[in-house]
Amino acid sequence: MPRTLDPELRSSLAARIRYYNEMGIYDFYRRETPGEVAALAADAAEPDAVAEPIQPESRTEMSARKDAAVEENIFEVLATKPEQGVSDPAKALKIIREDLGDCTRCPLHKQGRKQIVFGVGNPSAELMFVGEGPGADEDQQGEPFVGRAGQLLNNMIKAMGITREQVYIANVVKCRPPGNRTPEREECETCSPFLMRQIAAIKPKVVVALGAVAAKNLLAMSASMAQLRGRFYDFKPTGMRSNDPDWDGCKLAVTYHPAFLLRDPRQKGEAWKDLQMVMRELGLKPQKA
Ligand code: SF4
Repeated sequence: MPRTLDPELRSSLAARIRYYNEMGIYDFYRRETPGEVAALAADAAEPDAVAEPIQPESRTEMSARKDAAVEENIFEVLATKPEQGVSDPAKALKIIREDLGDCTRCPLHKQGRKQIVFGVGNPSAELMFVGEGPGADEDQQGEPFVGRAGQLLNNMIKAMGITREQVYIANVVKCRPPGNRTPEREECETCSPFLMRQIAAIKPKVVVALGAVAAKNLLAMSASMAQLRGRFYDFKPTGMRSNDPDWDGCKLAVTYHPAFLLRDPRQKGEAWKDLQMVMRELGLKPQKA
């Protein structure tokens, strides 16, 4: 039996979803049972408001169908991301960058960033690297992994038999945390929907998370690097649908952040094992010495 929400609640819900869209969050899940729908409606209204019970539809069959369609559309239309339907990954990335704009969504925008560091590389890359956040060199140049850690990452990529231009590189947060501190949870949660959209646009075969912050944010799990490394995870960008129905997510591997490897070069052998696992997955041959 079709049901409708109170028009006021529906309007509050639509306003809330618009607010999330402005934050870069586009995908939502619609709960099906009457009790759950009521809970969702309550959440969309003022925090202290009490959800009105959903009343059985009492209008004509035709208007009931129309109202049900309006409710569907609240989710379907507002949940559509601007790049949805754009099959060219380069164009989709451009749209995501434009949507990000001169972002002030999290506190990092007012903590000394020079510029937003969006991401760089091949929009159709099979391999994508995701780090934690920009450092001083990256903030200065507007490109991820360009300092000493970036040079080491370049060498790691070269050792895999490919070039930096063939992969795509991005970070969980796009603005430099002051003093290179670890980004706060709120900052990661606010910024990472844009990273998820980048991954869904690029549709790589493998994502390599560089370091614990990237791994924990991408996988939404907390574990030590020893527990996270050494295996593949099935990965789908959270809350995203790719434009390509044939792309059903990718593999994700975790390895050490190059900055950590600069501090503890003894771990380079372990990182190389992780990259060899990725190379086998992608059919890559190591560069001859
Ligand atoms: S880190 Fe991300 S969410 Fe925060 S201000 Fe920069 S671009 Fe916006």
